[in-house]
Amino acid sequence: MLWKKMQRASNIEERLQEIKSNLPETVRLVAVSKFHPVEAIQEAYAAGQRLFGESRAQELVPKQESLPKDIEWHFIGHLQENKVRHIAPFVSLIHSVDSLKLLREIDKQGAKCGRVIPCLLEIFVAQEETKYGFTMKECEDLLQSAALEELSHVEIRGFMGMASLTEDEQQIRAEFGALRTFFEKIRREVNLSNVHLSELSMGMSHDYTIAVEEGSTMVRIGTTIFGERVY
Ligand SMILES: *Cc1c(COP(=O)(O)O)cnc(C)c1O
Repeated sequence: MLWKKMQRASNIEERLQEIKSNLPETVRLVAVSKFHPVEAIQEAYAAGQRLFGESRAQELVPKQESLPKDIEWHFIGHLQENKVRHIAPFVSLIHSVDSLKLLREIDKQGAKCGRVIPCLLEIFVAQEETKYGFTMKECEDLLQSAALEELSHVEIRGFMGMASLTEDEQQIRAEFGALRTFFEKIRREVNLSNVHLSELSMGMSHDYTIAVEEGSTMVRIGTTIFGERVY
């Protein structure tokens, strides 16, 4: 199996290369460095990687401060409103917007630092109940509400979704496929000045090849690059 083979690749550079050789050129690789030390990020950086994903503000901020400024930082985890101001000055994309309240706070902090902050809406597609996100219906309602267009310091670039944690490939494929179909439909329907849907963030270490086949434009891969996380 491909995944097992990649686990054997000896270092971060080799693993990055191996993943990239599996990705179409149009799909961006977000190297998920959460819980891994600055040294691991430096190793990936030396291998040419410039896009990293983190899931906790208190971890992202010191990493951003100590690492090269040409790194593009994406926020991928559940974001608490009181943490937005810490990442607003530099974050390139927030993948995980899961409420209008959070979006309002991002807009407010974007205004404070004179930026329009690119965001993805996290859509709930898995069977599990623990995942954050909008249902497709909630998302559709949001994207048709006047409330959204007033937020001039956020730009909605697309959606993020996580499939169920299962061995069942057909189920994973169906969940990603449903999100892709929804994305295409909304892209045709919605016409707001701050909504430009081009990104579909789907796929992690164990399911990214399926996600890419189902139309992902951005994969978020941690374990396969950096090894197991130690919490
Ligand atoms: C941690 C995390 C990832 C990376 O998961 P791996 O299985 O290590 O590749 C991707 N997306 C989100 C939202 C995460 O929190």
